[in-house]
Amino acid sequence: MYKLPSLPYDYSDLSPYIDEETMRIHHDKHHQGYIDKLNTALETHPDLANTTVESLLVNIETLPSDIKTAVQNHGGGHANHTFFWEIMRPGRVDNAPDEGELVLAINDQFGDAPQFKEKFINAGLGHFGSGWVWLVVNKTGALEIITTPNQNSPVSLGLKPVIGADVWEHAYYLKYQNRRVEYLENFFAVINWAKAEENFKQAKI
Ligand code: MN
Repeated sequence: MYKLPSLPYDYSDLSPYIDEETMRIHHDKHHQGYIDKLNTALETHPDLANTTVESLLVNIETLPSDIKTAVQNHGGGHANHTFFWEIMRPGRVDNAPDEGELVLAINDQFGDAPQFKEKFINAGLGHFGSGWVWLVVNKTGALEIITTPNQNSPVSLGLKPVIGADVWEHAYYLKYQNRRVEYLENFFAVINWAKAEENFKQAKI
């Protein structure tokens, strides 16, 4: 059985960039909902219930056909949200990447951190409907910005996520209404760059 992980900070700690009420509903209701539905879907396949959700998603093409869609949607929802909580931390106005391997790779791929930010936000804005915008390490080992629809996980595509932002309306509508651009700009104030560096190093192994 999959369980809802606690947030690595308080519900109010990302305020004013992401408000407490959004965090409570997003974590306690939306994320819990994906986990409940994933657990229900796996009831008919108890052999898979002890597998990590990442492993289910990496091997999604080999899963029994009756649970593939449920794992893609609800397993993806569980994994994506767990990743999302950890890639944020209490906000800073001047939040910038820590010095390290990731910032060098960002400079190499996108020019500099501000250009990366602009491209990431534009990708998130350009994504139609619900989904996610990601910075990933692709199959050639290079950084790439991608979007995925719904709760599709980059790991199912053989990609390794470094940073990810939820662009479902439930992630921002209470505070930002239709202003996805403002939400994404403020997401940059709460990126946990130390965690991103860790993700990048893991992806390169
Ligand atoms: Mn969400």
